Amino acid sequence: MSSGRDIVAILLVSLVALLLPSIDAGQAAPARKVAKARPKPSPARAKCEMPKFRIVVDVGHTPDSYGALSARNDPEFGFNFRLARLITAKLKSEGFAATRLLVTDGKARPSLFKRVGNANGSHADLFLSIHHDSMPDKLLETWEFDGAKSYFSDRFSGHSLFVSQRNSHFATSLILARMIGRQLKEQGLHYASQYTLPLMGRYRRQLLDKDFGVYRYDGLVVLSRTSSAAVLLEAGSIINRDEEMAMNAPERHETIAAAVASAIGEFCAKR
Ligand SMILES: [Zn+2]
Repeated sequence: MSSGRDIVAILLVSLVALLLPSIDAGQAAPARKVAKARPKPSPARAKCEMPKFRIVVDVGHTPDSYGALSARNDPEFGFNFRLARLITAKLKSEGFAATRLLVTDGKARPSLFKRVGNANGSHADLFLSIHHDSMPDKLLETWEFDGAKSYFSDRFSGHSLFVSQRNSHFATSLILARMIGRQLKEQGLHYASQYTLPLMGRYRRQLLDKDFGVYRYDGLVVLSRTSSAAVLLEAGSIINRDEEMAMNAPERHETIAAAVASAIGEFCAKR
């Protein structure tokens, strides 16, 4: 007979098996043949007037389909929500009054189109998607946490930034991603270098900026189908046991939120 704990362990293992293979690759979309028509931004917004500049801060995943599990079995969605909320508050306090936090519900794939529809429908000027990173299944090791068999990988750590060349504002997205990467670096944080390595398999990506950790990820729905500039930030690895602890400390999220807000401030000032 299984104990309650055994059942919990089995459920967790099943969840890990179901969820981890997706990391964020479940968001890939087939190539589009025709670029979507999009409304031209007004001259005021093209110039970036801070109070009118519509930034959408997207919380990666949903409460039902919560992304990766951390090394200590905490869902990625919670990490994403806490950081995205802080980034939104920081941007508003620095003058970007039209910034909006976007939380989506439901199953993984439909939620991607919901969030893109929401951002495009509200004529967002900038879309920033917040995530926390994991590793492919084959690179995970096991340990016992809280009495349950759990999964981790301490081999790599760091944040990373992704942009899509299929986004109609690819160049602008890349400029912003570089600015965010530079601000994070100036805070003493390092980027996740493993995405260029063969061991990453289908998660391998082209590194567009080797100083600031910007990768190309063309197929992501939230990057390729948004009609504004769009950047996805993997804020840190929660499958790495030390980094998970760092990401749980409010100071780290404060540092990242401040870096993102500075970068967007600089981005706006240069438009
Ligand atoms: Zn994610």
